Amino acid sequence: MSRVSTYLFCALLLAACSQTPVARDADVIVVGAGIAGLAAALEASGQGAQVLLIDANSVGGGHAVKAGGFALVDTELQRSKGIQDSPDLAFGDWALRGKNPDAFWAWRYAENSARDVYDWLVGKGVGFHMILPTNEDSVPRFHFTRGTAVNAVVPLLREMLYDTNIEFRWNTRAIALSRLGGRINGVLTRNERTGVEQLYRANAVVLATGGLQNNLAEVRANWTADAAEPRRLLKGAGRFATGDGYRMAAWAGAELKNMDRQVTFNNGIPDPRDTSGEHGLLAQNPMAIWVNAVGHRFVDESANIRVVTEATRGFDDPGYWMVFDAEGARRMVVRGAPWLSRETIRDDVLHNPRITSHADTLQDLARQAGLPEHGLQTTVETWNRMVAAGEDFKFQRFSKIAPPDRTVRQIVTPPFYAMRTFPMTRKNMGGPAINHRGQMLNDKRVPIPGLYAAGELTGVAGINGSYGGAGTFLGPSVMLGRIAGTAAAEDAGVALSYRSSGARNAAGQARPGAEGYWHFDVSHKLVSERGYSCDKCHSETNPMQPAASRAILLARLDTCTLCH
Ligand SMILES: Cc1cc2nc3c(=O)[nH]c(=O)nc-3n(C[C@H](O)[C@H](O)[C@H](O)COP(=O)(O)OP(=O)(O)OC[C@H]3O[C@@H](n4cnc5c(N)ncnc54)[C@H](O)[C@@H]3O)c2cc1C
Repeated sequence: MSRVSTYLFCALLLAACSQTPVARDADVIVVGAGIAGLAAALEASGQGAQVLLIDANSVGGGHAVKAGGFALVDTELQRSKGIQDSPDLAFGDWALRGKNPDAFWAWRYAENSARDVYDWLVGKGVGFHMILPTNEDSVPRFHFTRGTAVNAVVPLLREMLYDTNIEFRWNTRAIALSRLGGRINGVLTRNERTGVEQLYRANAVVLATGGLQNNLAEVRANWTADAAEPRRLLKGAGRFATGDGYRMAAWAGAELKNMDRQVTFNNGIPDPRDTSGEHGLLAQNPMAIWVNAVGHRFVDESANIRVVTEATRGFDDPGYWMVFDAEGARRMVVRGAPWLSRETIRDDVLHNPRITSHADTLQDLARQAGLPEHGLQTTVETWNRMVAAGEDFKFQRFSKIAPPDRTVRQIVTPPFYAMRTFPMTRKNMGGPAINHRGQMLNDKRVPIPGLYAAGELTGVAGINGSYGGAGTFLGPSVMLGRIAGTAAAEDAGVALSYRSSGARNAAGQARPGAEGYWHFDVSHKLVSERGYSCDKCHSETNPMQPAASRAILLARLDTCTLCH
């Protein structure tokens, strides 16, 4: 993080503190309503804390809304499918592939993900239905809900909307932290719609703002020394992944570790509908072969991202061409924008000369794509001979022992296509150092009072090492969010034996507004003692929220006789 931005933050903060009135207090402020922030807020609220959840976006969920699966270890679903997984196996897989993973966190996650992530999410109503094998895991452990991980986010948000301990501030961007007597005690925000600045104060702050992969300047500033920096780099992360959390953490004195550990995909293409030219889409074609600038294959195309990244290290400029024919064009998959469909992929991507060259002969294709004719022709002919022989003698993508799958076909049916790919940003594996409670540490490894972090902002605590393995962001984000939320609530002085809807603190003292909760508290304590389920009282007509209408109050009357 540059000194300039740190100074700017200080200046902003000082200006804000002197001018901006304090608007309201919470026990815990969680900044960022991605899956880590949701977990943190729920957990803090569960401890009895009044939580203010702030997000720059107008909806919650962050990247999880688009993301896929969770790496989870030894879950009930695995066992029901006869998959024998164990913390040892998982830890071994991550240690083998990630360069220097954080042993404490990798082991803690391997040991506890079934209980702390899988069971917890299932308990909140999340359904996991599928486990996919990957070429990175010794056993299948990549867990999916139906569809994307939005189905893991919605039940959390639903619960939170019924939780009177949690208040939301959408379109509200945290722009600086405030500090009093060495303790972080609040967040200065700016409303993204009105521009109004507001200072919110709390006893503890959890930063869960995700990564910085939508900020190309910061991605480049932290580029690894191990690989050539690409001339063209596309953005492959969400709008608010701009790195605000890192700047705030740096201002507070946090040690930022492993910032050069970033997941960059090689198969980005420019989004043809993005006028800035910076936004990328993910292009995948299992029937394509990949060639470098001299028209030669350079890797097993089915290999994992780590192997591909290694293979492109020597390139002058990372990125390559996907080469396929008319048959392969039918298997083209492009992700990353809502407008994508079979038709728009054909018209806007495959038949868009700014993205894809196509021609009836390989010579013409090479000319249009700027590839050497001889190199490309020889590569395709060699490929076709290897497919016929059933053996990839160059990169062992298939062999007599591991026969080719149905995606392995000769490239013979015109028109032929060459699609240029570019590196595309995705995820962070570095960030502020935290202790075992999720509290941020300064460069002397001393906890910063009142400041916590969770999720991708922390580089998922180094669980991955330098390698973004399949599903190893979502699950750790949930676990880290829960840890930070619990610790922040404890730190804020709230730890209740039962859920109090925020009416009382750890010492049993009433907080302002507690009077309004006495009946709620008494009735819910009774319900929990008697072991009633929520639907004994609540229904669509009697929702779990303060009564907003006479109709709800009427429905609520029906439940009085349960206790009285
Ligand atoms: C397309 C895609 C697919 C992925 N697929 C997978 C997958 O299959 N498996 C896997 O494990 N991981 C996957 N990941 C990574 C994973 O989704 C993220 O690492 C994870 O969701 C991070 O969660 P988070 O809550 O830490 O951060 P985020 O999801 O980034 O949430 C951060 C939140 O903070 C808000 N915010 C940011 N700055 C501010 C600010 N200054 N003030 C207020 N709010 C702010 C943002 O609006 C956002 O809502 C994928 C990522 C992408 C982009």
